[in-house]
Amino acid sequence: MTAVPLDPGAVIGILGGGQLGRMLSMAAARLGFRCHIYDPDLAAPAAQVAQSATHAGWEDAAALESFSAACDVVTYEFENIPLVTLDALRAPVHPGRRALEVSQDRLTEKHFLADLGLRVAPFEQVDDAAGLTQATAKLGDGILKTRRFGYDGKGQVRLPCPDPLDAIGNAPAIVEALVPFEREISVIVARAQDGQTVSYDPGENLHENGILRRTTIPASVAASVAAEAREAATRIAAALDYVGVLGVELFVAPEGIVVNEIAPRVHNSGHWTMNGCAVDQFEQHIRAIAGWPLGDGARHADVTMENLIGEEVAGVLRLAAAPGHALHLYGKAQVRSGRKMGHINRVSPLAR
Ligand code: AMP
Repeated sequence: MTAVPLDPGAVIGILGGGQLGRMLSMAAARLGFRCHIYDPDLAAPAAQVAQSATHAGWEDAAALESFSAACDVVTYEFENIPLVTLDALRAPVHPGRRALEVSQDRLTEKHFLADLGLRVAPFEQVDDAAGLTQATAKLGDGILKTRRFGYDGKGQVRLPCPDPLDAIGNAPAIVEALVPFEREISVIVARAQDGQTVSYDPGENLHENGILRRTTIPASVAASVAAEAREAATRIAAALDYVGVLGVELFVAPEGIVVNEIAPRVHNSGHWTMNGCAVDQFEQHIRAIAGWPLGDGARHADVTMENLIGEEVAGVLRLAAAPGHALHLYGKAQVRSGRKMGHINRVSPLAR
């Protein structure tokens, strides 16, 4: 096994070649590392900025074997990587299998969080129509969510609705009670191999059509709420013996913070750190998986991060000229409705 800390020049393998893999590769390059992207998609945007890429299926044993032989450490940029893919790798993988397993299944995730003593929305498992009737009798009309493969609001419906189980493809699911939240926030936390953790100031998230529209830093929450959210994120990372960056989405509700979900990866709501902190979430992740000390995650600016979704990217040159605007484009050739094409960080001096 390669000794840690990894020396500059070492190769970091990244499973998944989307924008998160791309920004991880750019951060890794700043530290002198070389990246190898693994993604079935020939047009994976991360491959444009990495030293090498393997385009093969998630269960292609031979391709995974030679990929992992070429890497000193492997990480992933999305949580729907099959567990068998991880199991086929012989290089060390961070974050580990447990984090992926927990976050891939909403039911496992809810039990894990509740067992940690964290507040989650009341939930019930739903496997069929009878289960759905029982669940809504207990919880009222909440949200029906598939246990697996949900992202950007996909795989979930608000109840009541016609044929809810059909609407989610009759997949194994849960019902969650509606949380009457005041706002949605998220915490990005990094944990190093020696257990050191750094959490970033919580951002306040606004979603539209299930997709993150904007993250505003600082969130309009009391200092005690921010501290509680950061503490919850740190506890989750420690309980998973986590190495790398973890995103934790929370609701701020009248009864206190409620953990919505966790993402075992760098997170869209942490993109503000690229222009708001000395060490952003991407560099922090690379440092953690390379066995390096974590960096300074203190915020030196107020930031509003705005996603550029679909056709919005067409207005990019006008946006680029505005004062305080830092532009990040993902190199995606095809513009599609709902597709994240880039983001803007609007930076202003710290107000508080
Ligand atoms: P999720 O995929 O679980 O992150 O859900 C997507 C969005 O749906 C969240 O960001 C919330 O805006 C909303 N949502 C999800 N679960 C609940 C809930 N239990 N109560 C109220 N709103 C929810």
